[in-house]
Amino acid sequence: MPDCLFCGIAAGQIPATVVLDGKRILAFRDINPQAPTHVLVVPRDHFPNVAALAAAGDGQLDELVSTARDIAVAEGIDATGYRVVFNTGQDAGQTVEHVHAHVLGGRPMAWPPG
Ligand code: C5P
Repeated sequence: MPDCLFCGIAAGQIPATVVLDGKRILAFRDINPQAPTHVLVVPRDHFPNVAALAAAGDGQLDELVSTARDIAVAEGIDATGYRVVFNTGQDAGQTVEHVHAHVLGGRPMAWPPG
């Protein structure tokens, strides 16, 4: 997808701190971390949001969520707890229209979110 930031990161054209480089999935550290661990997990294929990824029905959503769990384990935040967030659409504050799971942890978090 031309002009898509995360397609550019997935293609290696835009720099990012990559923590997992898979065949269909990429994970990299958020450039503006909101917690001690803040990793974004994205499919290499372009989907605008998690609803579109779910509608594809080809196993990529399962793989994305499994990878989010793997990242939490690798980052050592699984024992104390972590949050997996898909901001979806304007009211949720989605700013990059390429589906991404935020994996956040390493500190206690409040609820409800802001
Ligand atoms: O859910 P939302 O679309 O708001 O999240 C986009 C995220 O992408 C932000 O947390 C932002 O810090 C991150 N980002 C990044 N690297 C970039 C541009 C944005 O990690 N080059």
